[in-house]
Amino acid sequence: MREISVNDVVQTVSRLCIDANYNLGADMFRALDLAAAAEESPTGKDVIAQLKENAEIAHNDQVPICQDTGLAVIFVEIGQDVRIVGGTLDQAINGGVRQGYADGYLRKSACHPFTRANTGDNTPAIIHYRPVDGDTLKIIVAPKGGGSENMSKVVMLKPADGVAGIKSQVIEWVRQAGGNPCPPTIVGVGIGGNFERSAMLAKEALLREVGSKNPDPELQILEDELLEAVNSLGVGPQGLGGRVTSFAVHVKMLPCHIASLPLAINIQCHAARHKEAIL
Ligand code: SF4
Repeated sequence: MREISVNDVVQTVSRLCIDANYNLGADMFRALDLAAAAEESPTGKDVIAQLKENAEIAHNDQVPICQDTGLAVIFVEIGQDVRIVGGTLDQAINGGVRQGYADGYLRKSACHPFTRANTGDNTPAIIHYRPVDGDTLKIIVAPKGGGSENMSKVVMLKPADGVAGIKSQVIEWVRQAGGNPCPPTIVGVGIGGNFERSAMLAKEALLREVGSKNPDPELQILEDELLEAVNSLGVGPQGLGGRVTSFAVHVKMLPCHIASLPLAINIQCHAARHKEAIL
């Protein structure tokens, strides 16, 4: 059994919170360049140029990419041969979020749903655990802003709705979302599982490298068709009109109940932030 101290977890989560909020991934910089080349509207081109300049300034000056530094969404893969020592993993992750959001001068966005009183330190984090083989601990920190998270939905389609029903739901939802999720976006789509699993699939789909191929050829075709369709809506960068409403559509799928066809959509804004570490 390999031991990992809570202090290592705290320091790692803290570092990842700051890194994710300051430094956009290389895949997103490539996506911005491709979007600039593909965009036909002068306003859209200008918006994309500003988004890239903003991300470069954030990286060079080590400041947040966006004022909304998000709820701290944490994906944890814990090896079954790992033992956390010195406290609980939950406490360590929340401690890392608390420290990272303070040290990085990141906005604290967690609040009581009724009173709207801020919790003051951006905790509790949203933590998703998955037990895996091995003796390592993988931590992915994916801060998620409210504007794009608000453009999420789960719908329980009828099995007879099929792929056509899925496509019309996704396209119509991106149209309705308009400029709210700060496009260009990545559209995360979860198909199958059940009510809650489909939502997780949609969110996990957002972690895939932008520009990468879906390992399932059938889903790759669906992604290509959906991307073409949403980029024909005319929403455009920041909703100001144009060709590039989305950088990508990412789909994850699992088997579902014979009576159901769960579909979840989780939209990610251009500030697509996630960083990971393996302890
Ligand atoms: S949706 Fe994204 S880019 Fe827009 S304000 Fe929220 S975090 Fe920032």
